[in-house]
Amino acid sequence: MRTWKWMFTAALLASVSVTAQQPAESQPSTQPEAAAATQTAPTVPASQPAATDAQSAQSTAPAPTPSALPQPTTMDQVVDRFIEREHELMKALSTRTPVVETYLQNLTADPQLGPVPSADHYFLGRMDMGEQVDRKDYLKEQDKGMETRLMGGFNKLFKVQYQPLGFSWMVYADRTDFDREHYDFHYIRREFLGDVRCLVFDVQPKKNSGKGRFQGRVWAEDQDYNIVRLNGTYAPAPKNSFFFHMDSWRLNLIPGYWVPAYIYSEEGDFSAGVKNKMAFKAQTRIWGYDLKKDNKDDELTQIRVDSVKDESPTAQDASPLQAERQWQQQAEDNVIERLTRAGLLAPEGDVDHILQTVVNNLEVTNNIDLPRPVRTRVLLTAPLETFSVGNTIVISRGLIDVLPDEASLAAVLSHELAHIVLGHNLGSKYAFNDRMLFSDDSTYNNLGFKHIPEEETAADKKAVELLNNSPYAQKLDNVGLFLKALQARAPQLNALLTTHLGNPLAANGTINRLAALSTQGPALDNTKLDQVAALPLGGRVKINPWDDKAEMVKTAPVAITSARDKMPFEVTPFYPRLARYGATTPSATPATAANAPSGN
Ligand SMILES: [Zn+2]
Repeated sequence: MRTWKWMFTAALLASVSVTAQQPAESQPSTQPEAAAATQTAPTVPASQPAATDAQSAQSTAPAPTPSALPQPTTMDQVVDRFIEREHELMKALSTRTPVVETYLQNLTADPQLGPVPSADHYFLGRMDMGEQVDRKDYLKEQDKGMETRLMGGFNKLFKVQYQPLGFSWMVYADRTDFDREHYDFHYIRREFLGDVRCLVFDVQPKKNSGKGRFQGRVWAEDQDYNIVRLNGTYAPAPKNSFFFHMDSWRLNLIPGYWVPAYIYSEEGDFSAGVKNKMAFKAQTRIWGYDLKKDNKDDELTQIRVDSVKDESPTAQDASPLQAERQWQQQAEDNVIERLTRAGLLAPEGDVDHILQTVVNNLEVTNNIDLPRPVRTRVLLTAPLETFSVGNTIVISRGLIDVLPDEASLAAVLSHELAHIVLGHNLGSKYAFNDRMLFSDDSTYNNLGFKHIPEEETAADKKAVELLNNSPYAQKLDNVGLFLKALQARAPQLNALLTTHLGNPLAANGTINRLAALSTQGPALDNTKLDQVAALPLGGRVKINPWDDKAEMVKTAPVAITSARDKMPFEVTPFYPRLARYGATTPSATPATAANAPSGN
């Protein structure tokens, strides 16, 4: 399973950046001959992507596509173009090792709620997008051809549970043989995905073109003809094996390229009399394409001269207490920087402003005056967790997603604020820089912020006190309801409740975080459509897979019409609103608590 290990070293990273900065000079400049095509291409306005020049491409991004290519005039030319672009994409990303997360829920039929989670699985790793994807370790010699094609291997997938690699197959349609010799392409229609006009093609493997070929549909945008979405499966499946169905989405995060970002997979038939009991749904997210390198030169350029200067007003030595605080600050900075570099923490951004507003509401109403301000950061992963290091509160993307309202967010944050107020500082050992010297793959082994039970109890007690003095005091019923919903699903969602850095919210299937609030509020009632105790995953925070920035999802409220619409803590399909790189997004409203989860 070498591919999925967190596998790269500082040295490798340095070479990654060098290669990535070379221009893609081998872009073919000649158009493929227009074969006797019968179909006519749509009348595409030959508008050159003028934005490409204006946009300042990130220095580490692959070179932009030359926009000088003539527009295709036949569907055959369109096919040639997106095949060519697909190969260009593979080349452009071949030096990348993004973070890949798959969260999977097995499903069982509930008479009232429909398919509901019966168990869950979680995978987190680093995917090597290079040509020789670990064929030595991962691939079986006799199956080399097919396994390479699928960017790794399938090892009788069905039998060996869920191998995470399986869900990354559809980052590309076909790793090695995506061409006319192996596939037939049929134009279907034009269609908008979000703001992007696409040409839709069905893709069928030719007869005897081998096992495990892509079969399904692709959407190619009509400007540079990059594939932006793939939907289908692989066929034929070898004996005793099974290919999942997948829906794979790409985002235009850098000029000229659409990079794989989301893959949704689902299996299961809940109609009467079905024998195949396998049923699950899974979300795979890819991010960290542009993770910073452990490059010494890089660091030097970032040091500002004035930052060396002591900022204290008078030139005096630190008092023992000041020294202690500086020491803790150093530890905090070390940890935050290290987690960010490992691709686990979003850089400071809009979501933090919302979180800080909520923290501030708690602080002001409780007259909390700390020597250093409390900061917040978003952990990029799905499992529900929070922790604090020094004065920084960290909360996971998954947890923000499922919280139904601002009061519940305040409750979750209040526990960590309580640790800070009570001085439960765990991190000071990380002020020693040698403790930061570990590979990204071993982050979870080297960092940890779990408190002893006594501190947990004290923090919960203090948290309730903080909440009762806060503007959220009147809305703690919602918090109670959220905790009840979490308890109701806890036995089935062990993986989602398994924390990796902070204290778990549950022990042996019982939610123990903020237990004092769990009896508050009305009883959990699935049939009450206006009672939304917890949300599905993915509804609040979205991550930019290139630079890891987190922002709040902008969605219009959708009416819940049946108990099955609630889907608390559940995995749902992806439907990102596609937009071209640099396209002006609807004016972003300034981050305030008003953007935070609202009450209901
Ligand atoms: Zn705690």
